[in-house]
Amino acid sequence: MDEQSLAPRQRFPRWMLAGWMATAAFVGFRYVPAANASHSHTGWNQIHIATIHGNDGPAGGGSGPGSQDEEYCVMSETTALPATTIAPFIEQTLAKLDFSVIWDGAADWRVDLWRTQKFCNQYATADRNRIELEFRIRESWAALCGGEQYACVTAVNPVTDSSGRHQHYMYMNAHLKREQMAAMGERARKFINHETGHLVGLRDPSYYGDCMHSVMHNNLYASLGCTDPVWHPTPSDFVSVRNIANRAN
Ligand SMILES: [Zn+2]
Ligand SMILES: [Zn+2]
Repeated sequence: MDEQSLAPRQRFPRWMLAGWMATAAFVGFRYVPAANASHSHTGWNQIHIATIHGNDGPAGGGSGPGSQDEEYCVMSETTALPATTIAPFIEQTLAKLDFSVIWDGAADWRVDLWRTQKFCNQYATADRNRIELEFRIRESWAALCGGEQYACVTAVNPVTDSSGRHQHYMYMNAHLKREQMAAMGERARKFINHETGHLVGLRDPSYYGDCMHSVMHNNLYASLGCTDPVWHPTPSDFVSVRNIANRAN
C-alpha cells in the first residue's frame, strides 16, 4: 500500500479546529516524583472523544468495534516513515503491550481502541467519517501545532454529552512528527501515549512545576521542570480517565 503521495486533507471541509494542545519535544532523563494534580478538562467544554463514556460491541454481535468504541486509523504524509511501518508500532503501543501500560481497556474498556483495516487516507469520506480518531505523521506540524518542535491534537465537531452537562468531540486527531516516531522506541511511545492521553481527556501541565508520575506530566515538559521519563500511562492517568468516563472529573 502506498499512500505517501496523497495531499493532506481534512476529513470534513467544514471541520474547524476546536482546540489544540502542543507537546514539547525536549526530553531529559532525571526522575523526580512530584505532587498530585488533577489534570482533566472540566466544566462545559471538555476536550475528549465523545465515545469515552460507553462501551459496546458490534450491533450484530461478535467481536469488533461498537458505536461507543474508539476506532482509529493511521496515515503518513512523509515518505521517510510510511504508514506501513509506523501503524503497527502505534497499534502495539496502544493495545498490544502489557495491560498495565496501554491505553486500550482503560476505564473498564470504555476506552476500546480498534485500528482500522486501512490507512486514514485510503477511505472514502463517508467511511472515514465513521472513524473517531486519526494518528497522522508528517515531517512538521509547525503551522498547526504552534512551533517546529511540537506534536499536538485537534478536536473537531463538538457535541453535547447525553448528560447535557458538558460538550465533547465526535472526532479527534493526533498530529505526530516523523522525527518523534523514527526510532520506534520508548521516546516514540512517549509521544503516542501522551497525545492519546489528550484524546481521552487529559491535559498538559498548566504551570511550572505542575509535575507528577504521569505520561502527561513527564519530561516532554522539561521546560516546565518535569523530569519523570515515564513513557506509558500510569495508575494516576488511568484514575483520571476513569473519572472522565464516569463524568466525575
Ligand atoms: Zn500535551
Ligand atoms: Zn464527555
